[in-house]
Amino acid sequence: MLNFKIAIVGAGPAGYFTAQAFQKAQSDELSFSIDMIERLPTPWGLVRSGVAPDHQKIKTVSKVFEKIAKEPNFRLFANVELGKHIYLKDLRDQYDAVVLATGASKGRKLGIPGEDLTNSLSAADFVPWYNSHPDYVQTQVDLSCDTAIVIGAGNVAMDVARILAIDPSELDPTDVAEHALIKLKQSNIRTVIICGRRGPEHAAFTAPELRDLPKLENTDVFIDPKQIEEAIKHIEEMEEVEKDLKNNIEAMKTIAEHEKKGVPRKLEIKFLSTPLEIKGNGKVEEIIFQKNKVENGKVITTSETFSVKTGLVITAIGYNSIEYPGISIENGRITNIAGHVEHNVYAVGWAKRGPTGVIGTNKSDSNDVVDLIIENLKEPKASEGITGLLKSGHEVIDQIAWEKINASEVISGEIAGKPRVKEVDWRQLISLGRS
Ligand code: NAP
Repeated sequence: MLNFKIAIVGAGPAGYFTAQAFQKAQSDELSFSIDMIERLPTPWGLVRSGVAPDHQKIKTVSKVFEKIAKEPNFRLFANVELGKHIYLKDLRDQYDAVVLATGASKGRKLGIPGEDLTNSLSAADFVPWYNSHPDYVQTQVDLSCDTAIVIGAGNVAMDVARILAIDPSELDPTDVAEHALIKLKQSNIRTVIICGRRGPEHAAFTAPELRDLPKLENTDVFIDPKQIEEAIKHIEEMEEVEKDLKNNIEAMKTIAEHEKKGVPRKLEIKFLSTPLEIKGNGKVEEIIFQKNKVENGKVITTSETFSVKTGLVITAIGYNSIEYPGISIENGRITNIAGHVEHNVYAVGWAKRGPTGVIGTNKSDSNDVVDLIIENLKEPKASEGITGLLKSGHEVIDQIAWEKINASEVISGEIAGKPRVKEVDWRQLISLGRS
């Protein structure tokens, strides 16, 4: 029986699905000892700090993660940071394979004047703020204006816009951060405009998320029917139309045409608008857009511009992976070929392919990389694994400690009528794990 030691860095969906793929690949001849290393004192990655609080159902995938974690060949080492408490070089030496499932957490920038004004934020700061990420509790968000602009036509832009546009009481029965809920309840924002630079036919939204919008109880959602009519014309000119695109346009047409409730809270999706400049005296006051049009299937700019008075701009235009010593980044992701980085180092998830796909996409992606790793494995190393790599006294959150944190949050949630109340303080999380 050959037993290989595997280190997975990053306890998000891609990390867990990688562990699961190794577990499923075990046989009478082959076994794996899996150590999952995570910077935060809590696992689950974007399922904890990314998925919108009004989408609780998506978070039930954490049950799958806990099942994976219960397997005897799995150990969790949370509160351990790559490049600070443990080094890639050492992991490479001690493990038969190292899998980087470190995601992409740096928000991409627009690169336009005024982007650094106060209250111009990246979704990479705003989303973890409302999701209780301990590093983002201090994110400064001013919700005193009446109109907010969200840049980008993807699902993150839609999450951000929804959280700003719905009645905050709808978040009462969720695990939204308490500090965010207080601010959202005091918010003056009544109009949220999502701005996409291309047409409806190019939007990165997905149909299930679009279909949920007309169901919002306290918010009217608008799309200019003319923009949808134009998009339908363009689609009719295409030789082949993908099913996802048809579903998206159908869902957007429903939004454009459905009867409005006449409520004060409004969410608008505006297409063919490229942000040119954010203006303001120290703080966001206005945003200037260039109008675009679609000609022969291509998006081209026009000389027309328009401006919107706003006090808050949130940019949701994708993410880049962060750098680690010894790892190069290309186009925002870890340089890799089909998941192979170098020697016995691999990448999965957003770190491998960039910030695309839903949680489930990581399953097939991780399966493919694990197949490749197994193909490349030869003789197991005679090494100690993680033993000796961490400084003595370094406080690791292992699976048992995490289960204590988890139980404490769920119990607090039961009392408050929520799925959980997330602890936001790093030290407090560690002490919960110790209790
Ligand atoms: P995304 O789906 O790639 O969307 C990014 C958007 O930003 C696109 O509309 C893109 O427009 C736009 N953009 C990029 N650069 C821009 C620029 N310089 N100026 C203006 N607009 C720009 O990324 P995401 O929304 O961050 O989502 C990441 C992944 O997570 C996606 O696969 C998404 O489906 C997934 N996700 C899923 C859910 C869910 O299932 N509920 C929730 C959140 C996220 P162009 O197309 O013109 O480049």
